[in-house]
Amino acid sequence: MKDVLILGSTGSIGEQAIDVIERSSDLRVCGLTADSGWERLIEQARSANVDTVALADAEAAEAARNAGWSGQVLAGEEGIRTLIVASEPDVVLNAIVGSAGLGPTIVALTEGIELALANKESLVVGGELVTALSEATGARISPVDSEHSALHQLIASEPPGVVDRLVLTASGGPFRGRTDLSDVTREEALAHPTWEMGGKITIDSATLMNKGLELIEAHHLFAVPYDRIDVVVHPQSLIHSLINLVDGSTLAHLGHPDMRVPISYALHGPDRIDLPVEHLDLAAIGSLTFEEPDTDAFPCLRLAREAGAAGGMAPCVLNAANEVAVAAFLDGSLPFTGIPAVVERVLESVPAPPATHFEDLFDCDREARERAAAELGAVAGSANGGAL
Ligand code: NAD
Ligand code: MG
Repeated sequence: MKDVLILGSTGSIGEQAIDVIERSSDLRVCGLTADSGWERLIEQARSANVDTVALADAEAAEAARNAGWSGQVLAGEEGIRTLIVASEPDVVLNAIVGSAGLGPTIVALTEGIELALANKESLVVGGELVTALSEATGARISPVDSEHSALHQLIASEPPGVVDRLVLTASGGPFRGRTDLSDVTREEALAHPTWEMGGKITIDSATLMNKGLELIEAHHLFAVPYDRIDVVVHPQSLIHSLINLVDGSTLAHLGHPDMRVPISYALHGPDRIDLPVEHLDLAAIGSLTFEEPDTDAFPCLRLAREAGAAGGMAPCVLNAANEVAVAAFLDGSLPFTGIPAVVERVLESVPAPPATHFEDLFDCDREARERAAAELGAVAGSANGGAL
């Protein structure tokens, strides 16, 4: 029996992880955490028979303590850290959104605990240091992101030295094919054509920043240079990624888009369990299509590639600025095209030397967020002809 601690259990990945664990005879939930949604967290704890949970938000933790549940509720980032150690998990599934996931990733790896990683921001922000920590303690990182799960499975089947290039597929998001994105609304941006996900990653998919973050994630997970990782737009989202081999072969991983498949592989791999996911009926599907990403209409992908290639803490700056810009877009204070504009300005103004300690990353993240917050007004104003 393997004990799994789910960080971010009330989110899209967290809920699907619980579903996978309920279908697994050899997995058990040993702890749950969320930001502020305490009602759902307590419900999950009751049904999974968990006796300790943690809430990042201290007020929510207080409300949960007064709700008549017999278990223990820890509070704040400190509470999440304590739970990672105290619940003695065999695997930590990190499904927190944003750079808030980095601290818990560091704690899990430091403790030598295997990490099933959905929180791609941990690798975007902390790439070199996070992978070095994983190597130092021997704690494995298993990717949950569907593209990286696909790549991981494809690469694992090949001997060293034969993989030439990685190819990440991108759905293209709801605005694929459009060139003028100045008037898109929050509702349009939140309507992803193929995947149902949390708000932040859905907006990242609409700007193509998600694919940029995944490019950086792939670079760190598989130690492949950026000039050997391609992105191709594949609107059906049925091919999850591909690898090109030295003999001219290309291997692909296919399946209906359902995150329970990569979540399950991260928890069970290389074993597999039965999941209620239909097989592909290729004749019924008829055709799979592909196109180049349009980095003029979607500059976030270019900005991420440039930040990755620049190295140092540039990806940390990119990520922090993006988180602030996406939050501003979601609350209606920044237009869609303001997202790459804010990110670009912050990348130009915040120094990004290499990080030597994790503390450098937290400082850089904070500075880039402050810079981004300061840029929001100027960018929103210019994007609306000065109307805001
Ligand atoms: P979500 O917004 O649905 O859920 C996020 C979870 O994290 C919630 O439980 C929330 O309470 C918790 N959380 C938020 N802020 C927190 C904080 N500051 N401290 C502690 N907990 C916090 O997000 P999601 O779509 O499930 O995505 C989670 C992660 O998985 C992201 O990094 C995303 O990029 C990645 N991912 C998601 C999908 C998907 O299909 N949803 C696919 C691939 C990768
Ligand atoms: Mg993905």
